[in-house]
Amino acid sequence: MTENIQDFLRKLPKIDELLPLLPFNHPYSIRLKAARQAISEAREAILQTDLSHLPEATERLANKTSILRRIEDIIRELERPSLRPVVNATGVVIHTNLGRSPLPRFVLEAMCRIAEGYSNLEYDLMAGKRGSRYSHVEAILCELLGVEAALVVNNNAAAVLITLDTLAKGKEVIVSRGELVEIGGAFRIPDVMARSGAILREVGTTNRTHLADYQNAISSETALLMKVHQSNFYIGGFTKAVDLQDLAGLAKSHGIPLYEDLGSGTFVDFSRFGMHYEPTVQDSIQKGADLVSFSGDKLLGGPQAGVIVGRGDLVNRIKKNPLNRALRIDKLTLAGLEAVLMCYRDVDKAVELLPTLSMLTASPEQLKKRAVTLCNLLKRLGLSNLLPRIVTTEARVGGGAIPAERLQSYAVAIDPAQLQISAARMEELLRNNEYPILVRVEKDLILLDVRTLQPKDLRVVAEALRNIMEAAHE
Ligand SMILES: *Cc1c(COP(=O)(O)O)cnc(C)c1O
Repeated sequence: MTENIQDFLRKLPKIDELLPLLPFNHPYSIRLKAARQAISEAREAILQTDLSHLPEATERLANKTSILRRIEDIIRELERPSLRPVVNATGVVIHTNLGRSPLPRFVLEAMCRIAEGYSNLEYDLMAGKRGSRYSHVEAILCELLGVEAALVVNNNAAAVLITLDTLAKGKEVIVSRGELVEIGGAFRIPDVMARSGAILREVGTTNRTHLADYQNAISSETALLMKVHQSNFYIGGFTKAVDLQDLAGLAKSHGIPLYEDLGSGTFVDFSRFGMHYEPTVQDSIQKGADLVSFSGDKLLGGPQAGVIVGRGDLVNRIKKNPLNRALRIDKLTLAGLEAVLMCYRDVDKAVELLPTLSMLTASPEQLKKRAVTLCNLLKRLGLSNLLPRIVTTEARVGGGAIPAERLQSYAVAIDPAQLQISAARMEELLRNNEYPILVRVEKDLILLDVRTLQPKDLRVVAEALRNIMEAAHE
């Protein structure tokens, strides 16, 4: 019996025989690895085949042409970068799993200019001596926000960590129980606090915290009052949170700094666009927060960064913390962030030019137009049997920002039933497309929410659907 199988396995082409037939423009190591994998797959398939079917199965599985084709597929997979662009048709604008904020061309150009050569990253050109990398965005942040000082680190989680480590190590930080949030990805305020060596002093209850709760908790051990923006959830009903202004008054009367972790941290008042109010950084400063931290790539719409702004003496202490070296921002981010910040000198311009903001504020009319364009494109490409039609949807802000907001949006719904495939299978095929496309599935329909689609995405989506349809008809 085993001999019999060995005979069949011997029909598989030899590696040495395959290698010279492969295109030489791929590295030898890749060709070899792919050939080995293809042979091993064929070998496994033969071993799994029922004895009675072995002759014809081997004929097929050991076929040199099909093995060569499989090797070339494997080579393509091996040479494809792991980090790839995807199309976001989910309608979640600040999608942390999909890289949060897309950056516009002028920001990329600012990054490229710095990336391709040397720069004055840590060199003071006026003085002709060593300078500070933090100086490049500090002035513009001070100008935009009316603060004394600013520091930028790797991300907002780093900003929280270094702020607590600098100002409250071994001392108490008073936080309302209703604000001990988990952001996701295992970022929990109490855990970060424990890491920083600060001691958490919870006050109030889940739904209600009063000024007196903070007041009663203040002692000689208190280093900081902290307010955390409830980024990704909201509570309703019988609730009470202390106003930042009142907290600032209490902090001042005891000479204790007040720090607010804003999470998203926008410079733009979204209520101007008919959305829920999301606290702006300027408001927090105005109401008396001594320090505010926020993300660069959430509502700000820039590259990943954590920004700390506020009182000069406090920011300067944070700058001197040795942790700063470990959490520091890199030069490309700095270049991108500076370009984004400059754009905020004209808020209307920022809303228009930064994709995150323009997607969030897109009007229903604009979105409907985009949906019509996509729907027509699908029909023009002969995809009418996917029954494309326009439906209304609710898109989300995402990124732990304005969680209560339901953004009225439009999607093109497609129904894969006529292709004899389920919506779940269709979702998988789109996800595994050469240019992956991420969609929502609702009631056996695929929804392509146009709020998060960029103009160039429409053709990618249409072509992927056409390829899937053609494959289904084969
Ligand atoms: C998102 C968020 C963070 C973490 O910010 P990253 O930029 O993702 O590191 C911290 N605190 C709050 C309140 C957040 O919403």
